[in-house]
Amino acid sequence: MNIAVDGPSGSGKSTVSKALAINLNLAYLDTGAMYRAVTAWLLGDSTSLVSNWQNMLTKKVNMKINPNAAAFTILIDEQDVTEEIRSQRVTDTVSLVAAEADVRDWMVQLQREIMSTSKGIVMEGRDIGTVVMPDAEVKIFVTADLTKRAERRAKEMAQQSDFTQQSLSSRDEKDSNRIISPLLKAADAIDLDTTFLSIEESIEAALTIVKRKF
Ligand code: C5P
Repeated sequence: MNIAVDGPSGSGKSTVSKALAINLNLAYLDTGAMYRAVTAWLLGDSTSLVSNWQNMLTKKVNMKINPNAAAFTILIDEQDVTEEIRSQRVTDTVSLVAAEADVRDWMVQLQREIMSTSKGIVMEGRDIGTVVMPDAEVKIFVTADLTKRAERRAKEMAQQSDFTQQSLSSRDEKDSNRIISPLLKAADAIDLDTTFLSIEESIEAALTIVKRKF
């Protein structure tokens, strides 16, 4: 069984996806982490991209992923970047990198390879139900009000909520309005609004969606 979970940042999709993978004994892939890892590699030690960064894409770095919800790790050229990819400088740049066709082709290919080598997977992102796994048996589109999402993310990152809200809405706008594979709910996806749900209630609701399908 393959499950596609899409939605904007801070909606609760990671929490829900990991819990589904653990509960249903499926592999787990955070595709946002993959776009973040490419971004971290392109940035190097800098806070902004070099002007001709697209040229760097001719060299495909070696990306290794452990697609396991309890021990998800991501390595670039044998270096563990699992923590580094959550930094603000990566967050600020990732949507620009993710809009590039070459980057998306490369990532989608890797995502499908991981899908085909697993016995079933929960994959989370922005274009999973629409582009990466259009045949997934279950598709969930997780949302929550922007204020609530910012509140959650600010808590996670120990940041000011208004700063986080700005950062989230700027990313939402870029991800939703890009030309290739924008953030979009698949026609056959089921909505899960977590605005007024606790973590436990969100997980329960996602499990109910899956069980109803079978
Ligand atoms: O999920 P997360 O917020 O970590 O994703 C980081 C960024 O990666 C998103 O803002 C988006 O630009 C990009 N992304 C994407 N397609 C996906 C997953 C993430 O474009 N499937």
